[in-house]
Amino acid sequence: MTDGVTGVAAPEALDFEVPRVAGSGIAGLAPAPEMSREEHLALVRDGQLGSVHSWELVTAVDGPGSRMTLFMAGCPLRCLYCHNPDTMKMKDGEPVTLDAVMQRILRYRVVFSASGGGLTISGGEPLMQPAFVKNVLAESKKHGIHTAIDTSGYLGSAMSDADLANLDLVLLDVKSGLPQTYRALTGRELQPTIDFGDRLAKLDKKVWVRFVLVPGHTDAPENIDAVGKIVTRWPNVERLEVLPFHQMGRDKWETLGMRYELDDVEPPSNAETEAVRQRFRDLGVATVY
Ligand code: SF4
Repeated sequence: MTDGVTGVAAPEALDFEVPRVAGSGIAGLAPAPEMSREEHLALVRDGQLGSVHSWELVTAVDGPGSRMTLFMAGCPLRCLYCHNPDTMKMKDGEPVTLDAVMQRILRYRVVFSASGGGLTISGGEPLMQPAFVKNVLAESKKHGIHTAIDTSGYLGSAMSDADLANLDLVLLDVKSGLPQTYRALTGRELQPTIDFGDRLAKLDKKVWVRFVLVPGHTDAPENIDAVGKIVTRWPNVERLEVLPFHQMGRDKWETLGMRYELDDVEPPSNAETEAVRQRFRDLGVATVY
């Protein structure tokens, strides 16, 4: 395992990038108590303390039904189009205990069961904090809650098959089908995502694939075909969502003082997005949105 730009970052190593010891809290989540750095590190290692960016209740996105989406802080990728660049650094999240997160999740049990919804852990990248995420998934499953993660798959090796048994759905971003395009777009390698998708296929785990259509970056016909080829080898994929690029994240990049490289990129037209969806159907993807 390596922490280099082109290698798979070791989740254990990433655990050391912890958030501030005393947090100011997130609305609706009890802040973690004051503690020493040593205590903090021990709790992070045990998956009892996570770095959380925010949470929200949503319907008809991030999975079926009404859902609580928990946004974890930290991501090993640096997608040029990221619309949540404020979730990229784990240290910018707030420390929240497993108990506090579970208390909030359990409040919505009735909503989840009435709507066919559940919990989605997103980010950032949830698998940057595998110990905490595994615990949240296991606890949620104990209470019969439908669970999903929204992931690039880059750190998929952090999840054992036993951990995946606590997941009902994986929202898997296939950001590009060509390694060089993936690298240019995210700063990381494509292969770990393919490996994770292959594992999910072997386990027959339900997957929704997401692909962001970015004119001039991911819309080359050979890239679309490469994405289609990857997705059609996974019979467990229930749907492929083509998400048109938008500029709604631009202001966040500016506010954070980060260089935004897609200033001049126009969102694709409806016709262009539809043409890509049709191409995926022609390639054999059964359900495309
Ligand atoms: S994987 Fe998601 S959170 Fe991470 S940089 Fe890319 S778009 Fe942003």
